[in-house]
Amino acid sequence: MPAESRSNSGLWPVAPRPFYEEAFGSWLGRVAARYQVSVGALWEISVSEEMPVLGSAGWILFPTISPFTLQQFATLARLDVARLSHIQTPPAWLADRRCMPYCFRCFVLNDADVSAPRWKREWLDPTVEFCSVHHKLLETVPASVFRVSKHFDAAHRAISRYRERRLFADTGRRR
Ligand SMILES: [Zn+2]
Repeated sequence: MPAESRSNSGLWPVAPRPFYEEAFGSWLGRVAARYQVSVGALWEISVSEEMPVLGSAGWILFPTISPFTLQQFATLARLDVARLSHIQTPPAWLADRRCMPYCFRCFVLNDADVSAPRWKREWLDPTVEFCSVHHKLLETVPASVFRVSKHFDAAHRAISRYRERRLFADTGRRR
């Protein structure tokens, strides 16, 4: 497909804005969910560059993207490019993972918008252990959750299912 037909044929009609503490992959996953397409399909129809190869944690640990592509996304979403640049994944954080740490309370209780769960960028830091808000040890989900989920809402459902199974198993062990 020629680059022209893939890129910038129009703006996204509606795009969720990124939260300041959000990870880039989380934002892209939320945009994909808004249009009910996979992150890969969203990339394909939106920008001209090839999508980077994703690691074991799929689109949540989204590789750092070029300034050109970042500008294309900013234009499509009517955002200041600095806003997207700020939430990009630092290259030093890109390594294959088996598990992704997160705080469930922070995940589902977004102070900025209670109806919009989002994945915090700080959880992608390979050295993170504690929630900076709740000061509790972070929980984890298998990184594969993001590899097999096509967008953010699907990942949210998979995370909730995984967590329920874990809580059920823990209750069983205590009996
Ligand atoms: Zn927290």
